[in-house]
Amino acid sequence: MTVQSVLDEVRKRRGTGAVIPVIDPATEEQITEFTDCGQEAVDEAVARARASFEAGVWRGLPARERAKVLWRIADLMDQHAEEFAELDSLNTGMPMAQARMIVPTCAEFFRYYAGWCTKVNGNAYEVQMEGGVSGSFAEMHAYTLKEPYGVVGLIFPWNGPIFNACAKIAPALAAGCSSVVKPAEETPLSAVLLERIIAEAGVPDGVVNLLIGYGHTAGAALTAHPDVEKIAFTGSTEVGKQIVQASAGNLKKVMLELGGKSPVLIYDDADLNMAIMMASMGIFVHSGQGCVCGSRVFVQRGVYDQVVDGITTIANALQLGGPKEEGSGIGPLISQKQLTRVMGFIDEGKRDGVEVVTGGYRLDRPGYFVHPTVLTNVDRDMRLYQQEIFGPVVTILPFDDDDEAAALANDTTYGLAATAWTTNLSRAHRIAKRLHAGTVTLNSQLNFDHNVPFGGYKQSRWGHEFGREGIEAYLQTKSVWAQI
Ligand code: NAD
Repeated sequence: MTVQSVLDEVRKRRGTGAVIPVIDPATEEQITEFTDCGQEAVDEAVARARASFEAGVWRGLPARERAKVLWRIADLMDQHAEEFAELDSLNTGMPMAQARMIVPTCAEFFRYYAGWCTKVNGNAYEVQMEGGVSGSFAEMHAYTLKEPYGVVGLIFPWNGPIFNACAKIAPALAAGCSSVVKPAEETPLSAVLLERIIAEAGVPDGVVNLLIGYGHTAGAALTAHPDVEKIAFTGSTEVGKQIVQASAGNLKKVMLELGGKSPVLIYDDADLNMAIMMASMGIFVHSGQGCVCGSRVFVQRGVYDQVVDGITTIANALQLGGPKEEGSGIGPLISQKQLTRVMGFIDEGKRDGVEVVTGGYRLDRPGYFVHPTVLTNVDRDMRLYQQEIFGPVVTILPFDDDDEAAALANDTTYGLAATAWTTNLSRAHRIAKRLHAGTVTLNSQLNFDHNVPFGGYKQSRWGHEFGREGIEAYLQTKSVWAQI
């Protein structure tokens, strides 16, 4: 399975819609192209998924057999780790070193959820119900079954193509669901390789069905489809809201992992070297295109200048470049559209009087590169302060005490993640309780483990991924009653 064979296979995907080019964001050159799959292909994919679910070819297997197949997928992913890394770095522009670190974590989703296959259990209840035959209590035995939803639609964005695919496909398979999978139109490559591996590992035909196409066509058709029982979506809050509306037709269940505008609090007693380094990487890694990126940094006044200087120094030292360029640590933005969006926020901020401490411009070279940007003198009602930019742009503001820190951190419609840096552990845990976010990291950033649930508060949510919650998202509960 060479990278070239994946590119060729993508090119062969012929739907009924528009031709969609796949662009290398580090060079702006076309890598391959495909045709938007169209409504007919969505209907066919859902029908295949439905047929496989009703036939029980996957959900009907003993749980331990499904677990073995998930392990095989992980092993095959490990064997093809280099191709996955190449495809994702080619498609997103991320450095190869970063892509190589991510792939084993992605394979591990299948091993982690393989373990859950044999641990899906309901509960038992002993009930005495009034109004039995003799007028007394009727002895009842009740129990719950955890059953797969059925056909689920899995839709995800371009920022971590193989990670997002595995985070959804692994628990859906472990639960026994059949799925229709739609990666972002910008980044279909690694999903095509994963589709092959899933088949080779022994997942029966029709259980996982890959569609490649636009969100407003293929994604929208999948979301509105009357025979899809659940949509698990990762992407922007804006599209998340559209998905909620589109799924109302058959009252689909919807899981949403959405945007963020995550605050990072740095207190004057923090390990400043570590806090500055991690706060910088926490926004500039992957050019800020991470949902938990800490795009709003708040610093206790006494160390404010020192932290601004420190983050600025790191921003200036980072080497931008494509995956094939020697020494590159940070890649480009994903697309011209994203570049226009990010520069739009920056230019508007400049007009409104923000201070650009560093960055604020596109690099004068091919590729969608924006210099890591540090902004101060920002008003809280500015669009760039309130809205998710999803680029290498951080705003830094001072605070005086815990009350002000919490008020600033929570002054957002998002609630995905938040961080506090302080060596006072009592204060760290106190502030953790006050932060309105689904994940709070203390004296650390960019934390992840397959076993720890991840989800948002406020407009960054519905539901959770990873951990036990991750498989429960693909299971529904049936209560069974029996008179004894
Ligand atoms: P997006 O919402 O534009 O697109 C995400 C996916 O939805 C893509 O596959 C797209 O084709 C599809 N889509 C678009 N319109 C659709 C529609 N009307 N119906 C159905 N599907 C549709 O997001 P993006 O720009 O690709 O990704 C960036 C966003 O993703 C950011 O907001 C980021 O915060 C978010 N994100 C969140 C998490 C998380 O776990 N919370 C993780 C990664 C990214």
